[in-house]
Amino acid sequence: MTVLKPNFRLSELVAGVFFILIAACAPNGRASGQTVEQGHNQYTIRVLLDNDITKAKLKIDTQYQLFDTESARVFDVAKTDGTIDIAIGPNGIKIGEQVFQTKRLIVQPPDDLPFTIDKRSYRGNLELIADSNNKSMTAINNVPIETYLAGVISAEMPSYWDIEALKSQAIAARTYCLYIKNRFGGNRLWDVKATQANQVYRGVAAETVRTDRAVNDTLGMVLCNQTDSGECQIFGAYYSSICGGHTENAKNIFGESCTALEGVACPYCSQLTRPSLFYWPMVTFSKNDISENLFDRYPNLKSLERIEKIEPRKESIYNNNFKRITSVTFVGVNGKTATLRAEDMRLAIDPTGMKIQSTSCVIINLNDEIMFLAGRGFGHGAGLCQYGAREMARRGKDAQEILSFYYPTSRIKTLY
Ligand SMILES: [Zn+2]
Repeated sequence: MTVLKPNFRLSELVAGVFFILIAACAPNGRASGQTVEQGHNQYTIRVLLDNDITKAKLKIDTQYQLFDTESARVFDVAKTDGTIDIAIGPNGIKIGEQVFQTKRLIVQPPDDLPFTIDKRSYRGNLELIADSNNKSMTAINNVPIETYLAGVISAEMPSYWDIEALKSQAIAARTYCLYIKNRFGGNRLWDVKATQANQVYRGVAAETVRTDRAVNDTLGMVLCNQTDSGECQIFGAYYSSICGGHTENAKNIFGESCTALEGVACPYCSQLTRPSLFYWPMVTFSKNDISENLFDRYPNLKSLERIEKIEPRKESIYNNNFKRITSVTFVGVNGKTATLRAEDMRLAIDPTGMKIQSTSCVIINLNDEIMFLAGRGFGHGAGLCQYGAREMARRGKDAQEILSFYYPTSRIKTLY
């Protein structure tokens, strides 16, 4: 392992940190990016674990290093039994009994060993970033992309599913996180959230032999789509659980135009999914609850005072038998109106997404309540249909065939 000297300049130090991350991946059979070549620093993923934290419990079962990235100083820390208290205070970041007068501190375990923060274990390192007033911290896990994927796949798709379905999931997830990193990462401290807002990441707890194999078998593979300039570009390889019969054009949900994401008729998910999951049960919300939830997330809607009606504004109709609402109009008790993407409405009214499972449904406005019924599918419906991928794999299709079905104009390219 490279030992960093305290007088390194910041850029050298950060490069050194990445080198340690990449060099640290021992070939122990676990998916950990061990064959990622040195120099692929852009393929470290910065995962937001938590923000606005004031304290946390850290556990590392070995000695480790602390990098103060402001002063470019490195500290060797001996193994500590039990947990180590992390806190933010007016003078800086406190690790155990020591206060570091810095805004950024990296906790780096050696080799590929994990650290545990608030009972969740991750590989890579932990970066703590203090806010400008030293009132709270942001906790980020910097992790090589292949190791990151090992912590994602079983959280997004059951590990017992066919290996070709898992491989298609691994390629889609790798593509998606690089796309999000490239698109938004430059403007913020992190690339992706560890939740459904991006991809669910559970770190070490999600690593399984089968999903690790899916990651390793697809090492460095991403999807790209041909652009007018002739370049094959990574795109937002969205995916969702059950499309319900037709995948949705991503433009109608996320606003992005891409020929690979225009939507396809999916005859597969209905074959496999149990009816109670494919057709979701009717659900009713009071207009008061709907108003409260919507105003919470979209304060501008408060000008409507109370939501009286929700009416479909735009719908995608496919093959004359599958319909998905893509945009809605709200009518307020004062007669004012406002519009919103239907998927945003769904997740504002029902943040779990477990009741209103999709926007392929019928909306009925009653006196004090609004009813969502005749629902089909589960999730936003754009890109790969996971249950459809499972059924395709059961019919003998491989990952490449699954991906070119759901992202029709795309192809696979290998980055490293
Ligand atoms: Zn489907």
